[in-house]
Amino acid sequence: MTPFRAHPILSPVLGLEGYYEPASIDEALDILRRGNGKPFAGGTDVIINLRRRTVTYKGLVNIKRLPGIADWSTEPGEGLHIGAATPFRDLESSPSVTQRYSALAESIRVIGSVQLRNMATIGGNLCNASPAADSAPALIVSKATVTFTGNGDGTRSCLVEQFFSGPGRSILDPDGLLLSLEIPEPESNSGDCFQRFTPRGALDIAVVSAASRITLDRSSGRVQEAVIALGAVAPTPVRAGKAEEVLVGHEPTPDLMAQAAKIAKEECNPISDIRGSASYRQALVEVLVRRTLEQALERAQR
Ligand SMILES: Cc1cc2nc3c(=O)[nH]c(=O)nc-3n(C[C@H](O)[C@H](O)[C@H](O)COP(=O)(O)OP(=O)(O)OC[C@H]3O[C@@H](n4cnc5c(N)ncnc54)[C@H](O)[C@@H]3O)c2cc1C
Repeated sequence: MTPFRAHPILSPVLGLEGYYEPASIDEALDILRRGNGKPFAGGTDVIINLRRRTVTYKGLVNIKRLPGIADWSTEPGEGLHIGAATPFRDLESSPSVTQRYSALAESIRVIGSVQLRNMATIGGNLCNASPAADSAPALIVSKATVTFTGNGDGTRSCLVEQFFSGPGRSILDPDGLLLSLEIPEPESNSGDCFQRFTPRGALDIAVVSAASRITLDRSSGRVQEAVIALGAVAPTPVRAGKAEEVLVGHEPTPDLMAQAAKIAKEECNPISDIRGSASYRQALVEVLVRRTLEQALERAQR
């Protein structure tokens, strides 16, 4: 068992009693179950919050060196496996990811800055559970699943859209760990796209984000399946189910996509806050859903 020890730099600066670097998942879970620390991967949320003194933790548990947790792999036809502690930069630097997973690549590219993405991980983005987490809508339309430790022994899996339970909350056990994500291989008759709106070009949080995926029937060219996910318009990232329904079975004309975008605007119920009023957010939903649908269609037809 790794001794509970003080980190020479982090502990005094962040007011921690100790810092762990467990060597195995079992060891990490043991430390977490004893209540000795908060897990962190890139630390781009945890360390910032500690420095701002908005949270306090007894200790920190560095999970980045756990076996396999920062590994990712993909083979054409076999989908994409991503360890939870994989930094975004690793994924965006790989043509085998960016060329096949367009929406995911687009969502990663806007997160923070290159320096941030060298540290920030995909698992940290999901576990932080911000309604504006940029990877979430793209992962939802990609039908990604997450695997995490269960309440007892063993692991559980669910779709990313089922993972969130409120702002800053997920169904992950407080002493648990997110282990990995699996993203199925996109079908050749489908296309997807992610876009967000921020007042500043970079280093800003989305006022609204949207991702869309369209799958076309191979013989008729009509919409076989549509998935639309929205960020920053509800306590968790959400699907726009009514807008999806209006597309299915029809020829994907510009008018139909404009109609779906209008329905997405009506079915979401955002709050007003410092970043934008509810009506402004709804107007953005209409624009972003229409644009992402158009782009997803173009990619599906290619
Ligand atoms: C300047 C700046 C700009 C940013 N810009 C964006 C942006 O544009 N878009 C965006 O979405 N986010 C942004 N963020 C937020 C942040 O960078 C991301 O949420 C990032 O992906 C978090 O990953 P991390 O590995 O650093 O998480 P950490 O800080 O290590 O952890 C975040 C949370 O997840 C938990 N956690 C991490 N990994 C695991 C795991 N495997 N199992 C269980 N719990 C875990 C931690 O306990 C903590 O609660 C920004 C942050 C900063 C500081």
